[in-house]
Amino acid sequence: MSGIPLYWKYPFLLRLEDVIPNPYAVLPVLIGTPDAPLFEKILSYLKLIVEKTSVPLDRSTYNSDHEVIVFYSFGLISKAIKEPQLLTRSAVAYSKKAGSFFKTESDEVLIDIARRTGIKIIKPVQPPRVLRVAGSVKGKKQFEWESLSYGVSLTSFTRLVAGRLEQDSSYNLSSQIVHEGVVYVDRKRFTRLLEEACFHYILKTYEGLQQPSADFLSGIQPLITEVERYLESVRWWRRSFVKEGRIGEEVSGVVEEAFPPCIKKIISSIKSGGNPSHEERFNLAAFLVNIGYSVEDVLAVFRTTADFDEKIARYQVEHIAGLRGSRRKYAPYSCDRLKSIGACPIQNYCSGGRHPLSVYKHNLKLFKQSADEPETENVSSMGKIQ
Ligand code: SF4
Repeated sequence: MSGIPLYWKYPFLLRLEDVIPNPYAVLPVLIGTPDAPLFEKILSYLKLIVEKTSVPLDRSTYNSDHEVIVFYSFGLISKAIKEPQLLTRSAVAYSKKAGSFFKTESDEVLIDIARRTGIKIIKPVQPPRVLRVAGSVKGKKQFEWESLSYGVSLTSFTRLVAGRLEQDSSYNLSSQIVHEGVVYVDRKRFTRLLEEACFHYILKTYEGLQQPSADFLSGIQPLITEVERYLESVRWWRRSFVKEGRIGEEVSGVVEEAFPPCIKKIISSIKSGGNPSHEERFNLAAFLVNIGYSVEDVLAVFRTTADFDEKIARYQVEHIAGLRGSRRKYAPYSCDRLKSIGACPIQNYCSGGRHPLSVYKHNLKLFKQSADEPETENVSSMGKIQ
């Protein structure tokens, strides 16, 4: 594993300019047209990122420069077609790829990556130890000492745990050894935090890319057209929630603007890299299947969550959609029940009923009226609090 080039594994650690000087002039030649050397490679990466949230491991060449160029191309293409959700999907895929190599990396490499991605870390000379359950023999628990060999600054730790690891109780601060502003963790937790740091670092890197110029865009137009054609074929626009429909255009179908605040909150948490609770996930899935989403569409919504497992998620969504088990389609909780678990973000109740589906139906009606009589109805009243 150590023989694999560092930047093949972690292409986001290099700048595009480190690989190709004057990239905006050279990139169109490398990626822009079907005969360009990296055109097909980018499309094959795109498919895996969209369909499996993973990055192909092209071990045939271990060409780090190509990996860096492909990595940045996704950022530029997503910006060009205004698809922030594609950036998030790509960040999850690349950070997962990075995480898959951490197990076998030396401490030196891990600490270098930690520092480059903004984690403040120390390596204690005498790490604290904790007694953990190692398993059981004939029903009797076996314990072993475990060294907490990595010290992560409290600010880095809380920042990294605040998103997708929030629901994992093993990262609660109250379960950690904290001393003088440093949180001590074992290697397994450290590498998971590092994967999270890579995720945020990649998103920041993508966000920092300059908006592609018109000249550059025309140079890669064939690639953009191919990317859009592919995304259209997998109905990405609907799945990603970012295709903005005109108000009233889709009254009988899915209108994201009409979703009640509780559902919007869960979606926005997923979009920003958060990790909703099991109950929130259930409610989002139940809401979506009840307004006409297919199992595939619902899975696509959840695909960027940190612990997404295609097989388990598919089973659960099929169950909620009534395709398994009791064959009964589940509905989301009532507003009162959502309030009782802290999933309702507003003080009182939305207009339209005491259930997210009734509220959505009511909001859709407002959209329809607004489309029919644009002069007389004010859609901004949608979701107003009673
Ligand atoms: S009142 Fe009901 S529909 Fe509105 S945000 Fe709260 S739980 Fe959702």
